[in-house]
Amino acid sequence: MAFGNQGGFQPRKMYQGNWKCSACGADITELPFEPDPARLDQLLCRDCHRARRPQRNRY
Ligand SMILES: [Zn+2]
Repeated sequence: MAFGNQGGFQPRKMYQGNWKCSACGADITELPFEPDPARLDQLLCRDCHRARRPQRNRY
């Protein structure tokens, strides 16, 4: 039997911390990934991250 995840979505592991967004200066308290210590000054908050992403999907 393979992975049988019943019940759908598992909450993703979030990394708690105390960082600052490099673009807007907002506080970042959790990230969906483990931040690279060498890039702590390049972190983006969720809003900036989304805004910076090229938008490929048009509707
Ligand atoms: Zn930001």
